[in-house]
Amino acid sequence: MAKVVHKFGGSSLSSAARYYAVANIILAHSQVGDIVVVSAAGKTTDTLVKLWQAFEQQDQHCAVDVISLLRNHQQELIQELLSGENKALVLNLLEQELAQVWQEFEQGSLQEAALLAHGELWSARLLSSYLQQLGVEALAWDARQLLCAQQGQLLHRVNEQQCQRLISSDKINVITGFIAADQRGQTVTLGRNGSDYSATLFARYMGVDEVCIWTDTQGVFSTDPRKVSAAQKYHKICRAQAQLLAALGNPVLHAKTLSPLHGTDIKLTVRSSYDSDAVGTEVVREGGCKHKHFITTLTQQDVIKVLRLEQGELEQLQRKLQTSLIACDLDGIWYLVVPQQHSAELLHYFAERAQLLESNVNGFALVAPQRELEKCQQQAQQGLSELNLNARFSYLGEGYFLQLTDEEIDADSLGYLHQRLLGSQRQLAVVVAGLGNVGEVFVTQFAQQLARLRQHIEIKVVALVRSENMLYDPCGIDTEQWQAAWEQDAQPYTNNELLARLAQLDYEHKVVIDITASEVFSQLYPQFAKADCHLISANKYAGTAPLAWYQSLKQDLAQRNLQWRYNTSVGAGLPINFALADLQNSGDRVTRLQGVFSGTLSWLCSRYDGGTAFSQLLLKAQELGFTEPDPREDLSGRDVQRKLLILARELGLELELDDIELSALMPAQLAKGTWQECLEDLGELDDFVATRAQQAKAEQKVLRYNADLRIEQGKVEAKVGLVAVPTNDPLAGLPPGDNIFVVNSNWYQDNGLVIQGPGAGKEVTAAGVHSDLYWLATRLN
Ligand code: ADP
Ligand code: ASP
Ligand code: MG
Repeated sequence: MAKVVHKFGGSSLSSAARYYAVANIILAHSQVGDIVVVSAAGKTTDTLVKLWQAFEQQDQHCAVDVISLLRNHQQELIQELLSGENKALVLNLLEQELAQVWQEFEQGSLQEAALLAHGELWSARLLSSYLQQLGVEALAWDARQLLCAQQGQLLHRVNEQQCQRLISSDKINVITGFIAADQRGQTVTLGRNGSDYSATLFARYMGVDEVCIWTDTQGVFSTDPRKVSAAQKYHKICRAQAQLLAALGNPVLHAKTLSPLHGTDIKLTVRSSYDSDAVGTEVVREGGCKHKHFITTLTQQDVIKVLRLEQGELEQLQRKLQTSLIACDLDGIWYLVVPQQHSAELLHYFAERAQLLESNVNGFALVAPQRELEKCQQQAQQGLSELNLNARFSYLGEGYFLQLTDEEIDADSLGYLHQRLLGSQRQLAVVVAGLGNVGEVFVTQFAQQLARLRQHIEIKVVALVRSENMLYDPCGIDTEQWQAAWEQDAQPYTNNELLARLAQLDYEHKVVIDITASEVFSQLYPQFAKADCHLISANKYAGTAPLAWYQSLKQDLAQRNLQWRYNTSVGAGLPINFALADLQNSGDRVTRLQGVFSGTLSWLCSRYDGGTAFSQLLLKAQELGFTEPDPREDLSGRDVQRKLLILARELGLELELDDIELSALMPAQLAKGTWQECLEDLGELDDFVATRAQQAKAEQKVLRYNADLRIEQGKVEAKVGLVAVPTNDPLAGLPPGDNIFVVNSNWYQDNGLVIQGPGAGKEVTAAGVHSDLYWLATRLN
């Protein structure tokens, strides 16, 4: 059974050298049963069209010249590729066919479609003969034996049965593209560039896995790469945009190519037969990639204004003319943009319903994400006046903007418009994990931050992730409406699905922002790095993970040139990480770092004056939402220990969590059992604090829960616990809930550098995450 359909366009078969390359691709990429669809070699169809025009005008001289052109080209290919009897046979067949054409010309019985079919027939015969010569079991097919159409409509059920019955499963099937037969056996064609469509039709009928369109460019670009060297190749484009591009007359894919793939998972790729190792473009299902920007040009078009268009009439006309018409609806009046050669026929057809509005105009169409089109339209219009091009009809359609002009858009103008409209295409995809208090505020603040971020890079939030559900849209989630979108579209997911989606995301830059408090989620970081994601964490687990794991993560990130920011994992929005990095980058050496790193413990210690029992304050803090659900997690000091470790590692110290001495703000026996069980024993906590407070008071001191790191002559001492500080110490005057960081260094020896302020709270923390994101955005290009 066929697994793959390969399609080689005229550009891949223009010379003997190209046939050699094509044969090599077939040898390397196909197996028996596969299908190879071929177009006419080089510009053969154009030449055959000239012959038809000569016939219509009864221009014998011209016909003789054109036939000799066709003969020479084919003979050259056959002479070069075939040998022995094979060569003689194929040359002979060519002569017979050309003689027949000439005879029909003279007799006036030439048929247009049958004449044009020769191009594809010659290609299929030559390629299969050449493959046979190489020892490959190849079979040439005339698609008129396989594809039947009735009044311009392909009979899919009949065709499918026919293909399944006839197509060989033990040979390579070389089939003509572009042609089919009607029920009387007469030739019909599928429209210019129709071989792409033939390829996807055979793919659908035979249920293959993949269609590969081999052409002369490496894939689908932001504009014609043969005209604009700065055109950008896209690794993925979605079917809807490919379809739109084709409907706007872009040659890289025929307008109907996508329709047979509807509802199937058949993979479609566009690759270069000139450079078969290069990664091509995959045309993926909607939602499989973000929407891209394209500019495609139009030449020699007419605009016909149609007052009334019946239902189905447009489709019928497109079938009849075998071309796609751009239909613009402006308040119920239709404007058809049509290739000039069809306009007389259309005007005749519509009679008094239509009038010619524009004649022989050119222009371009911009395909872009819907939300950006209006902006692009303004830029396009400015671009046109900068180029001194005369704007004619224009139309803002679904997913595209069309601008017709008097002048043709030459390569220079196209290059200018491409630069002006598409500029730098680099984009940053943002994944936000954790939509608790801070996460929600972060997403809400996003809308206000967008303009600022976009000064540096185009940015889109592509996923919002909670522990069980995820909202994912590679084209970008509207952060102003995210709750509604969440209600409607959030789906359950597994971590593997999340990772697969991230790996597939076709953005130039990606960042995972971890605002969860989940250790399990933090363990995915190495895999995020493998999917080329930068990291921003408010989560403390990865920063305090075992040293070997942490260092290997840092190394992976560095190798891939990825950034990891974790400003809010310590001190919420306070810029302590920035300050430490800055001191070191400017040549200073930190000798001591200490302070109060927990908002909860700061609140408790600063509020405690011996008047109210400590446990009463603790219960009050719990009620106000200042503590963890089990307040012993705060009292244990573990959180402060992790924060100190993060800062120590920021200073380049290779510490593990257990290298930091920890003494809790509670008696050891309180750590046992559940919190509910502990409630009865809170008197022990009160005694524990009261004894120490009285002792401190006797020395004119107050209690603070302190983290302290000393680096002296290469010796590191780190501890976290309750300390008594003199009343004139900066820690003593700390307002309840504030964090304070005191840094001593070579430059701040006696008088430490102090950073102080709220070290918790959803607004400041979310803003701190934005600060990391902004930092990242300014460093990407
Ligand atoms: P084939 O002969 O393989 O069917 P076509 O000539 O029909 O190839 O289509 C490929 C051509 O399309 C390229 O040579 C290129 O000049 C043109 N083209 C126009 N726009 C694009 C684009 N955005 N991306 C790639 N190719 C494009
Ligand atoms: N040979 C036909 C054409 O030139 C069909 C194709 O190339 O796809 O339009
Ligand atoms: Mg083509």
